This record gives sequence, structure tokens and C-alpha cells, in this order.
Amino acid sequence: MTNPPSRAPADIRLPHHALSANDCLADLDVRRHEGLSADEVAARLARHGPNTLPAPPRTGPLKRFLLQFHNVLIYVLLAAGVITLVLGHHVDSGVIFGVVVINAIIGFLQEGKAERALDAIRDMLSPRAQVLRDGRRQEIEASGLVPGDIVFLASGDKVPADLRLFEVRSLRIEEAVLTGESLAVEKSPDAVADDASLGDRRSMAYSGTLVTYGQGSGVVVASGAETEIGRISAMLTAVESMTTPLLRQMAGFSALLTWVILAVAVVAFAFGTLVRGYAPDDMFLAAVGLAVAAIPEGLPAIMTITLAIGVQRMARRRAIIRRLPAVEALGSVTVICSDKTGTLTRNEMTVQRVITADGRLDVTGAGYAPRGGFERDGHDLSPDQAPLLTEIGRVALLCNDAELTLEHEEWRMVGDPTEGALVTLALKAGIDPRRQREELPRDDVIPFESEHRFMATLHHDHEGDAHILLKGAPERVLELCSTCLSLDGVPQPFDAEAWQRAMDEAAGEGMRLLAVAERHESGRNESLDFDDVERGNFVLLAVLGITDPPRDEAVKAVANCLAAGIHVKMITGDHAATAKAIGQQLGLAREVRAVTGAEIEQLDDEALEKVVIETEIFARASPEHKLRLVQALQARGEVVAMTGDGVNDAPALKRADVGVAMGHKGTEAAKEAAEMVLADDNFASVAAAVEEGRTVYDNLKKAVAYILPTNIGQAGIVFFAVLLGLTMPITPAQILWVNMITAVTLALALAFEDAEPDIMQRRPRDPREPLLTGFLVWRIIFVGLLLVAGGMGMFLWELDQGASIEAARTAAVNAVLIGEVFYLFNMRSLTGPVLNPDGFLGNRYVLWAIGLLLVCQALFTYLPAMQALFGTEGLPLAAWLRILGFGVAVLLLVEAEKWLVRRRIRRRPNGDA
Ligand code: ATP
Repeated sequence: MTNPPSRAPADIRLPHHALSANDCLADLDVRRHEGLSADEVAARLARHGPNTLPAPPRTGPLKRFLLQFHNVLIYVLLAAGVITLVLGHHVDSGVIFGVVVINAIIGFLQEGKAERALDAIRDMLSPRAQVLRDGRRQEIEASGLVPGDIVFLASGDKVPADLRLFEVRSLRIEEAVLTGESLAVEKSPDAVADDASLGDRRSMAYSGTLVTYGQGSGVVVASGAETEIGRISAMLTAVESMTTPLLRQMAGFSALLTWVILAVAVVAFAFGTLVRGYAPDDMFLAAVGLAVAAIPEGLPAIMTITLAIGVQRMARRRAIIRRLPAVEALGSVTVICSDKTGTLTRNEMTVQRVITADGRLDVTGAGYAPRGGFERDGHDLSPDQAPLLTEIGRVALLCNDAELTLEHEEWRMVGDPTEGALVTLALKAGIDPRRQREELPRDDVIPFESEHRFMATLHHDHEGDAHILLKGAPERVLELCSTCLSLDGVPQPFDAEAWQRAMDEAAGEGMRLLAVAERHESGRNESLDFDDVERGNFVLLAVLGITDPPRDEAVKAVANCLAAGIHVKMITGDHAATAKAIGQQLGLAREVRAVTGAEIEQLDDEALEKVVIETEIFARASPEHKLRLVQALQARGEVVAMTGDGVNDAPALKRADVGVAMGHKGTEAAKEAAEMVLADDNFASVAAAVEEGRTVYDNLKKAVAYILPTNIGQAGIVFFAVLLGLTMPITPAQILWVNMITAVTLALALAFEDAEPDIMQRRPRDPREPLLTGFLVWRIIFVGLLLVAGGMGMFLWELDQGASIEAARTAAVNAVLIGEVFYLFNMRSLTGPVLNPDGFLGNRYVLWAIGLLLVCQALFTYLPAMQALFGTEGLPLAAWLRILGFGVAVLLLVEAEKWLVRRRIRRRPNGDA
């Protein structure tokens, strides 16, 4: 079925920007007030394909694989492999090359997995669009748009396809992605010259550009790759690289480590040949062994995968990371600045009180279902008895963009919840929406913006007289009113004090307040602008008290944050008294203090810095205030997470250490500026992300503190052997085996480690603190030395018992590895005790990894092929028991060390390890 054209076919030789809006609609075969039908959409979707841009080019798999070798550590290994080959040690060089390749394959696979995980998360952020189809306004995924679709735009939207605009209300669009011009362009529905350049086509809204102000609607003329942006591929920037400041810091550390290791190896070589009199050939092998032992080949891959797992976990807890560095910043957040409505509260608005000149009325019923009515002093009051109620209902319905529909016996609301609550109120007041909208059609609107805090609409009745309807924050609306009405609809003088008393009472109970007013004018008014409203002389009908209770989970999350040493500040557009009452219910502080936007403006930066620390609530605040607040907090050294949803919140979100945008009610502009998007708009998800951020950081620390002792242990063994002039207790091939097997099996298990129980009882981490703290360095050296002792000891013991050199080496390798197995249990917690059932069984990945390691070690020790390759030999039971004994000793010694550390921490005021 096609939609009949609304006009004769247009002159299709002209481009859309030069056609009149109606010709354009005709050309696209769509009716302006109907939109396309579902069948037509399906047909066009088949013809034009989805409205998505082709995926940006990615690095090919071969290049990604080769990039795994692009690392100083690997260069050193490769060089060692080549030299060993030249010297004729084919087995050793074979093992070195084998390990390098296996390491690259593992890195390649893990990186691929991490990238897929991030891609899946990115897909969760697909943009949406408001369209008119089958005569109904609906929200769809922007990828489903087809040419001919009628699309509505509002401030903060990212234009979802190329549109020919046919209606605009102060619509301004920032087109920097296309034209490079960052100043927003005022749009208009009038056709422009055929040869107008992209930046001058005011009749068009182009895909990928941002609506910074106003509203508009238009018809899709091009979708997907056919759009201007699709053609110039400006958005096809490469995929963000998988790195963060911390990973870069570690990469730098690895590079430095490599040079140090090389230097040590050279010194060892010189010492061995010149002082100890080893044959250069043998000594070279020993030096290679030393270098190979000390280089942590597996570390970079483990760090990447730990980070990726953290991002996935956050997504499961409804916090979607857009920029990886945010994961780290989250772990050190000290202040969370949060919006109130919908984030800390449920955003389920219900008008519960109507304040009138004749006193207050209570409204019964909850939620959007229009069930319930009005009560005065506990007695029912029907709208027939009080004509004012009908008047209030009319303004509530008409000065409103929300829609309420009954679907499958359930009332659904599309639009702003505050406005949804007003539609419900209108229905309770007995208003028939369809009739009302026919009687007083809307001709113009000043949309609600948090800057001016009101909305006004212009309507004309059948006599052609104008009605201006106004609703908004009481302090804006009341100053524009000169009279009010009694319940009977009779004009009354205005008793400002009585109104104020009733409003203070409602705000003190946590209700948000909204005043409704109207003004009649004889004769037509062509349009509505700010001056028309500012002229005042309105009749105040009522002030509505709207409840929006705090979310239960937000109350808990606030308590968690406070326990974790994180301050929570509420920044809201609502009235200070309302905000204070809600802040109290949320438990923001024992005594909640509030400062208003107007007061912020009186303060200079220095004074604000002081105030911002002492205050929990910022009321009647607008987006510019948010930016100043973030700056003031940061000047005080705080690490700030800031939530936001509007287009004007973008600067504050960008400035914050972690900008957090709302997934549902947030604009595209806010999402693009943010580091993280909340899938459920819920404050509890911010707190959850902080917890995960801290866990990731803990796990990164654990991975480093776990892997490095193996390197120190083995390098130490080789080093002491050279120093003491002993036979090598462990060969280069064996060393590589140990490095690889610990990095890919054991250490990986730590990336899956859950949060430690006290993670939200610690103070925030100092962002300047390096990953390798003094404590961590100590731990690494301590365990490294334990492994040296174990490996050396076992080797010498076995030799002393008359074992062959092969058997002694096999025992040394197994001692190091079994020591690492027990140390893995230790490292499930950096300082907490693990000698309990949960410590041993709490992470199933640990058990799997150990099982895998034991199988590998059995093969390494007993399989003839492995014996030939690695020069190993089967061990008697007694040797295994000694090795096991060493492992248990490592476990107990590290636990004892933790106990001492815990005692020291308890005595220190800040409690950090
Ligand atoms: P936040 O989300 O930042 O906590 P908020 O959403 O409660 O704040 P705003 O939406 O800026 O704050 O609303 C501020 C005030 O503007 C409200 O207290 C109310 O009086 C008024 N207001 C809110 N929504 C509308 C609307 N759709 N039309 C008219 N006035 C409104």
C-alpha cells in the first residue's frame, strides 16, 4: 500500500533543499500528518536498507597478529632466539620462538575477545528517533528510519538522518561534523537556492549534527550511507584503541624493565666469562635465560583482559563505558554529583496536591492511571462542584507534550514524566483530551528548558481569540500573575503570603511545585515569544504539588558511597525546600545544607570552592552552575563524577573526571560528551560502577603482584647460579614454559576475581598513586625471593640426594610453579586472609586454572616428547611431597605477612595498604 501523494508530483530535478516543504513531502510520497504506513516502511526498508553507516575500517587480523610482536620485550626474545639458533642450540631457540608465537596467539585471541566485548557494549547505545507513523507518534531505533519518515527533533537530539524540515520552532543546529563550523545554525522551513552550500541549507537538518536549541520536524530525504555524513565518511573514525593512562604507564614500565634486564644480562655475561670462567657459549645461554626469565611477556595481555572484563561487568550492572580511561577514574572518584529527578528519585510523578486561592485540595490515586479524584478536607470534591478544576485540567492538558495511552489495560506515558502526571490530573478532572484539543488547537509554543523553567503555548478558540497557557516553576509564574481564581471560577485578589505558606508546606514534604496560569486575549496572535509571556497579567489557577519518591536502591547506594568515603551532592533544578526534603529522605547527610543557583552566582571562584565542599544540595541550579561546581571541586583536588542529561550539560560532563549521561532520558549530546552512560538512569548504577572500578584496579594490582614474582624468582635463580658458579638450575626453555603457563592459566584467573568484601569501606584511591605502590614492590620482592629459595633449595637438595641434573631441574621448575599455585590463593586478596573455605573455593576460575596447570605439569614432567623438548625427567613421590611442602610454606608465609600488614594498617589513620 502506498500513501497517496498530498500534492501533484514535484519537480524532482531540484534537490530537496531547494524544493518547497510540500513538494518534498509529495516527492517522498508521504502525508505530513499521517506519516508512512507500516507496510510502506517495510517496503522502503527493503529498498534502502537500514539507516546505519558502514562500519569503520578495522585493522585486519593479520596486522593485528603482527602487532603482537611489536613490543621491546618480544624483540629481545626474538634476538635471543636468533642468536641461540646461530650458536646451534636448536631446542632452546625452537622453544623461544614457540613461546613468542604462542604468546602472540594468546594476546591476539584475548584482544579479540576484549574488543568484541566492547563492541557489544557499544551496540547497547544505539540512538533512537521520534517519528510519526500510521498517524501515531512513536519512538523507534534510528536504524529503522527510511526516506519519507516524518521525524521530530528536540534540543539535545542528534539528527538521525538527512531531513527536509517543514516546521521549526527556534530550531538551532550545530553542524561542525559536516561543515567545521561550531556555531549553531538557525533553521527555517523555507526553500533555499539550488546551489546553496551545505552550511547555507537552512531548510535541511543533516544526519549526525546536533540540535542545540528548539524543536522541529522534517521528512527523511536520505538515510544510511546516502546521507551527507555517510558520503563524506566523517564519522568513520577508527575504533578507539584499547588503552588507558594506566596501561600506558605499565607499557612504559615494561620497556624500562626490558632495558634494565638487558643491562643485567650483559653484566652477568661479562661476570660469568671473565670472573667465573664459563665458556662464552654456555654463559650466553645463561644470560639469555636470565633475560627470558625476567621479562614478563604475559603482563600486557593480562592487563588488557582485566580491563575488558571490568567493562563487561559494569555493563551487566547497567553502567556502559564509552571511554576506557573512565574505568580507572571511577576507582578513584571522591565526589558524585547527581541529578535528582529520575536518578535519585523514581521519576514516577503524581500530582498529589492542588493549591488554590481557596486552600489546598488532595488528589487521590497514584501513578499515571487516571483513577482517583479530588478531596477537600477529607470530603470528595467533584469537578462539577468546582469549575476551577476543569480550568486547571485544561491548562494541564494543553500546555503539555506528553501522551497517555491505554495499552493492554495498562496506562503508558510517552514524554516528560512531569507532564505525564499533568495529563493524568487533567483526566481526573474529567477533561476529554480529543475534544479539548479540537476546541483549542495549539498554534505556537515556547518549549520547557531548565534555563527559563516554564513552558507556554498559544491557542485560538472558535471565535478566533487567543489563549496563552503557562506552566512552570512557581517563582517564575507567580511574578507574571496579577489575579487568581476561586474554586467557583470567580476572580480573586492575589494573597501572595497565603500562597507562599501553602507552597512552603508542600515543598517541605518533598513535593516539586508547578504553577499553572492562563491569559485570554481578544483577537488573533500570530506567534508566541518571550516578550508575550513576560508582559505578565496572567491569571493564576493553581500550584500543583507533585510527588516523586526517592528510589529505594538510591537510598542504599548513597549509604554505600558515604561508607566508601565518597561524597554525594545533589544538583537539581527543583526548589531548595523540595530538594532538601528529598535529600533528607536519601540520607545525604545528617543535616542537609542547600545552596541555590542564584547564590552560586553571587560567589567568586574562591568562595565557591569553600561552599562546594560544605554543601550537599544545589537547588534551582542550571547547567552553567554544574560546570562551575565541577571546576570548584576539582580545584579542591576532588575526583568528580557528574551526571547529566540535557544538551547544556555537555560542558560539565566533559569537564568532570567521569561524565555520566542518562541512557533513557539523556540527550544524544549528553551521551556523546559522557564517559559513561547509565542504561537505567539510576544513581545506584553509578555507585555500582564505582565499586567495579575499584575492583578492576584491585585486580590489575593483583595481576602485576602475581606475575612479577615469577620473573624475579627465576631471574634470581639464574643470577645466583652465575654468581656462585653453579650449573644452571633451570634452562631458558624451562623458564619460558613457566612464564607462559603462569601468565595464561593462573594469572588470568585473577582477572575474574570479584570485589573484596571491604571494597566499599575503603577510602578512595589517590589518583596520583602509582600502580606499583611501595607495598606492592615489597610483596613482589618478598615472594620472588621465596621462589628463589624454593627453586634453588629444591635443585640443590635433589642433587645432594643423588638425583640426575635433569631430575633436579624438573624439581626446581615444579617448585616454582607449585609455589605460584599456592600464591594464587594468597593473591585472591591483597591483604585480607584467605585461609577459609571461600578463600580456597570462592573463585571457580582459580580452581579451573590450577586444574589445567596440574595437567600441564604432569605432561611436562612425564610425557616423553616434553621430556625430550624441555630436558625434564619423572620425579619420585618424595620429591613431590617436598615440593608440596614448599607450596604450603609460601601460602602460610604470605598469610603471615598479610597479618602483619593488616596490623600496621589498623594503626595508620588513613587505612590504605
Ligand atoms: P534534575 O533532573 O536536575 O534533578 P529537575 O529535572 O527536577 O532537576 P528541571 O526539570 O530543571 O529540574 O525543573 C525545574 C523546575 O521547572 C521544576 O521544579 C518545575 O517547577 C519546572 N518544570 C519542570 N518540568 C516542567 C515542564 N515540563 N514544564 C514546565 N515547567 C516545568
